[in-house]
Amino acid sequence: MKGVRNVGFRRVKRGENPGYPRFKGKGRYDSFTFPQAGTTGVKLQEGGKRVLLYGLGSVKVKLHRPLEGKLKTATVKREGEHWYIVFTCEVEPRPLPPNDGVVGIDLGTNPHFLVTSEGERVEAPRYFQKAQAKLAAAQRSLARKKRGSRRREKARRRLARLYRKIANQRRDFHHKLARRLVNRYGTIVHEDLNILGLARSRTAKGVLDAGLAQFLQTLAYKAEEAGRRVVGVDPRHTSQDCPVCGHREKRPLWMRVSTCPQCGTFLHRDVAAALNILARARTEPSGMGTAWAVP
Ligand SMILES: [Zn+2]
Repeated sequence: MKGVRNVGFRRVKRGENPGYPRFKGKGRYDSFTFPQAGTTGVKLQEGGKRVLLYGLGSVKVKLHRPLEGKLKTATVKREGEHWYIVFTCEVEPRPLPPNDGVVGIDLGTNPHFLVTSEGERVEAPRYFQKAQAKLAAAQRSLARKKRGSRRREKARRRLARLYRKIANQRRDFHHKLARRLVNRYGTIVHEDLNILGLARSRTAKGVLDAGLAQFLQTLAYKAEEAGRRVVGVDPRHTSQDCPVCGHREKRPLWMRVSTCPQCGTFLHRDVAAALNILARARTEPSGMGTAWAVP
């Protein structure tokens, strides 16, 4: 920690004008927020291509997604060689018109990201898998470089850039999907991921990759904003029970379709699971016993 303590205030102590914080050595993490005291604010310009930071000037930006609501502050950050601006916006809660629609969603059953009780299937984004070969190559390349060398630093940045890109793509996918569900349904029922280590109980890779927990957070947030409901239910046996007669049968994971031996209903494994998840919200205490019309 040598020297770190005094870094920010050196100029103040010398009685010099502190000015704006200066950025320090590479690999450090720096940030400051606009508007700073005594200035008027921040403003987007040219339809989001630039942002005006009072006291600093106008800088070119690339928005990862459109800003919603009223722009309040902008925090300028540097991570490695990358500059970011994190905007905070004031969003008026905009409740959507009431909607009686209810849906159950089954999450992370390969190869789908989710399947709804209405039979809609959303493919899992394979960003990570697609990028995996590239990641592996970038990692190997990094491992070969000599510690402290310029080439190692370059390789490290390349790897970080890849990870960052994947994370951004994933976040964008989550936002769009959550928005779509919230627009369409008044109540969305999903498996409570905290009840079972879901990732461990399913075929692991696709599930972990899909970032289910992150998606559910996004979904909960968007639902709250829109005045919609998200309910988590106990996921146990939801993929084994027949949604029509309740017959329970353990089937191998590869078995996508089957016929219920008790009532003869033809079942799609994932859709049946989504139907069971939906049904649980009606019977479980966490669903508060709310009576909904069965679709
Ligand atoms: Zn049955």
